[in-house]
Amino acid sequence: MRNVVIIGSGCAGNTAAVYAARANLSPLVVAGHEPGGQLSITSLVENFPGFPEGVNGPDLVENMKKQAEHFGAEYMNGSVMEADLSKRPFRLNIDGEWMETRTLIVATGASARWLNLPNEQRLIGRGVSSCATCDGFFYREKEIMVVGGGDTALEEANFLTRFGRRVALVHRRDSFRASKIMVDRSKANPKIELVMNTVVQDVHDNEQGVVAGVTLKNIVTGEVARRDVDGLFVAIGHVPNTKPFIGQLELDSEGYLISHGGARTNITGVFHAGDVQDKVYRQAITAAGAGCMAAIEVERFLEAEGH
Ligand code: NAP
Repeated sequence: MRNVVIIGSGCAGNTAAVYAARANLSPLVVAGHEPGGQLSITSLVENFPGFPEGVNGPDLVENMKKQAEHFGAEYMNGSVMEADLSKRPFRLNIDGEWMETRTLIVATGASARWLNLPNEQRLIGRGVSSCATCDGFFYREKEIMVVGGGDTALEEANFLTRFGRRVALVHRRDSFRASKIMVDRSKANPKIELVMNTVVQDVHDNEQGVVAGVTLKNIVTGEVARRDVDGLFVAIGHVPNTKPFIGQLELDSEGYLISHGGARTNITGVFHAGDVQDKVYRQAITAAGAGCMAAIEVERFLEAEGH
């Protein structure tokens, strides 16, 4: 029987683990299908306080894990397939093995959203990607396209200009959701071409099963055109990882956990932390703060229950 199981090993889960471990709760962290969370697939993080020169995302999250382990947190690989939260102790099915815990912190984050193009899934890893930092290296002197109008898309487009001959940024509207600094930086980058009011209708491959082009549609003029590209980077936001909790934890229409104040969910003893609940701020620092809150709530809850 565990005092607390933390599901997810991004900023939220790792920070919860640091706090829970320092409170002598011997937390178990289930790393999940994307260990390290979104920071593990970013490059330089410039806005995490305490690092005036910026910090490498994977290093930051790995250091958080080391810090938690130093205080006694235990990490295991695996994902929660099923959860029975109908009574306490809660029961979790982790890759086929059931385990019991008095409390639970859900810090499962959110995963990349895809465009649902006819050929998209088939070409993932063959020219279609959701992670510029992971795959940008493969596109030296190539034609690259990034889809999206948020900070991620603009950040990825700028990053990819280090590799590609040209980066076309395709966005479905005539204005960006991204922050002004990122918009200005993109406009000033001579390698970035902004393709506004445009959607990608499909991605095409050549005989080798590798991306060769896309079909674009201008939604104002209705014009449809084919364009050659070697890489298509999809950066259109994320979907919260709440599947094992459907029907038990309260979710909003997009699948995000609904908070019942602080770090509390609708089930006593189950707490939330990070992007799985937060679709507004979604920052490394806010996820870390949320992990701290969840661990403090667990500590107080267990103490009140006499554990
Ligand atoms: P986001 O802000 O939700 O933006 C998603 C973008 O994708 C939007 O421009 C949206 O278009 C577009 N989109 C969504 N579905 C689409 C579809 N089916 N077809 C075409 N386009 C589609 O997501 P994000 O850029 O990943 O950012 C998430 C959060 O992280 C934000 O709060 C952001 O500020 C933050 N972030 C911060 C940093 C940083 O501070 N360094 C870096 C990256 C991200 P519409 O605009 O038309 O809806």
